[in-house]
Amino acid sequence: MKTVLTLWLSGAALALAACTTPPLNDTGPMPADASPVEQAAIDAASELTILISIDGFRPDYLERGATPVMSALAETGAVGPMQPSFPSKTFPNHYALITGLTPDHNGIINNTMEDPAIPGDVFMLSDPSVTSNPAWWDEGRPLWVSAAEQGINAATMFWPGSDFEIHGQRPGAFEKFDQKLPDFARVDILLSWLDAPSGERPALATIYFDIVDTAGHLYGPDSPKTTSAAAQVDAAIGRLMDGLTARGLGETTNIVIVSDHGMAPISDEQIMSLDTMVDPAKMHVVWTGEFAGLSPQPGYETDVEAALLGSTDHGTCWRKGELPSRFAYGQNPRVPAIICLADTGWRYETDAMKVWRGSGGGHGFDPADPLMSAIFIANGPAIASGVELQKFDNVSVYPFLAALTGITPAQNDGNIEDLAPAMK
Ligand code: AMP
Ligand code: ZN
Ligand code: ZN
Repeated sequence: MKTVLTLWLSGAALALAACTTPPLNDTGPMPADASPVEQAAIDAASELTILISIDGFRPDYLERGATPVMSALAETGAVGPMQPSFPSKTFPNHYALITGLTPDHNGIINNTMEDPAIPGDVFMLSDPSVTSNPAWWDEGRPLWVSAAEQGINAATMFWPGSDFEIHGQRPGAFEKFDQKLPDFARVDILLSWLDAPSGERPALATIYFDIVDTAGHLYGPDSPKTTSAAAQVDAAIGRLMDGLTARGLGETTNIVIVSDHGMAPISDEQIMSLDTMVDPAKMHVVWTGEFAGLSPQPGYETDVEAALLGSTDHGTCWRKGELPSRFAYGQNPRVPAIICLADTGWRYETDAMKVWRGSGGGHGFDPADPLMSAIFIANGPAIASGVELQKFDNVSVYPFLAALTGITPAQNDGNIEDLAPAMK
């Protein structure tokens, strides 16, 4: 397979492509216009692909001697650092991973947001009465939606957006998010779905773990408690691998482990008050924290811009249309008029929206900062062994997953070539 892929990539195999018909996997239709890399993955596709997200897992956590299962998967598979999309927050990046669209394009532009087209509502992770409105999600098409549309079974043991109807579809099996559900229980529910007869078994499944992010926030990325949370998730992944082996699925399952962002140390001594820069009556602040979003009140545009735009000691503010192009952010109507990004370790707050005191870690900083880096590990029948990947943008995971599962991808911002070395 590797030889074939190499030929494909060299571009010399186009003639060969025309006269050979590679075997199709049985998990779904071949994309009509599969690129050579996608085709190579389809040839090696497995019965099942499991996407595992470990919220807030920074790549260097792998080097702490606490994650033997993940380290073995990395060693015998493909591993690399991955750059989150801007902003380096949970919902925007989970939706980027599963839609292949940057937050500006997928509509989930932050964990907290407002939309001029949905007046009066504030999107917040903890408020399903608002977040369940499909209008928030419909700018993206999660892979499980395309799977359902193409007659391919997908199951989600948690993933942001997966407990709501999107484009009129839901995953074939899913659980409503419950942060209290222990990691082993999450694994056992996913395994129980795999006990279905092979025709009804999902071809794509997701599972999500949050304790590494929670510990990182509470105690900081360098705390032994964060390392021990990583060890706990590693044990849960070990339980999943054992469960796959017990079901005879160990050899035919592709595992893709990702995180959404990393974690940086923060402290209460590094907080900037927006209220000291601008009269609070002159602005509407949508969110504060590692990056802030706000709009001047009508008539105060010049005042607010004069007070904020440009760099200060510990952060930079831009008009939404003038953020550095590498952030690929600011065109979406949900992005407020002014975005302020704090230097790593710092935060913005207002009196009305104070940031949490006593936190050891935070994220939302510049995605290019290594402290914000996410992890990527892939292992399985379609994955090459012993590959160390160059850092790549997380939107490229989507076309890779589509190729592994035989799901025809929607238009996306990813580049599957980023992951070509990971494929057999
Ligand atoms: P962040 O504020 O970016 O650190 O977000 C992490 C938090 O997102 C986790 O601790 C969870 O409480 C929350 N979360 C993760 N997945 C979901 C979900 N599917 N629905 C609601 N909240 C979620
Ligand atoms: Zn997160
Ligand atoms: Zn977090």
